[in-house]
Amino acid sequence: MLTCKELSALSDEILEGSLPFKQKASVKLHLAMCKHCRRYLNYLKLTVDMIGKNEGHSATGCNSDVSSAEGVKIDQIMRRIDKEVLKK
Ligand SMILES: [Zn+2]
Repeated sequence: MLTCKELSALSDEILEGSLPFKQKASVKLHLAMCKHCRRYLNYLKLTVDMIGKNEGHSATGCNSDVSSAEGVKIDQIMRRIDKEVLKK
């Protein structure tokens, strides 16, 4: 059984949809029971969508200066979200 911590560590792969089937199933199961992680992933998805739009349609996964700067930003936002989620 997945813990909330494990799920948040997998959040990148979850949003990318790159999880192996077995893990996807346990993530789904956890999300079905855990309101906090559902909310957490929703925030993350919104954030990623937002940043993706600001960046236009550039492909993800390229290592240009721009995307590494965005990566730092995402990291900060994620940390803030982490704190907010933990508060509740
Ligand atoms: Zn959870």
